[in-house]
Amino acid sequence: MKVKVTEQCMGDRHCNELCAEVFEYDEDQLRSTVKFDVIPKHLEGIVRQAAAECGADAIEIIED
Ligand code: SF4
Repeated sequence: MKVKVTEQCMGDRHCNELCAEVFEYDEDQLRSTVKFDVIPKHLEGIVRQAAAECGADAIEIIED
């Protein structure tokens, strides 16, 4: 699984709080970014949860 944060991100940092291992806030771009190219298997569940809970619908999951 791969994941990206689109420009729709409104920067509320919810995903960062939910899973700091994967999502990090970029102060220059004013939106969240993804730390991994490919998401480690054990983090896939929390990434799906973050995508479901993102109020801006900005977390895009790309399945293998
Ligand atoms: S939860 Fe969505 S809107 Fe909020 S920081 Fe993460 S990607 Fe951006």
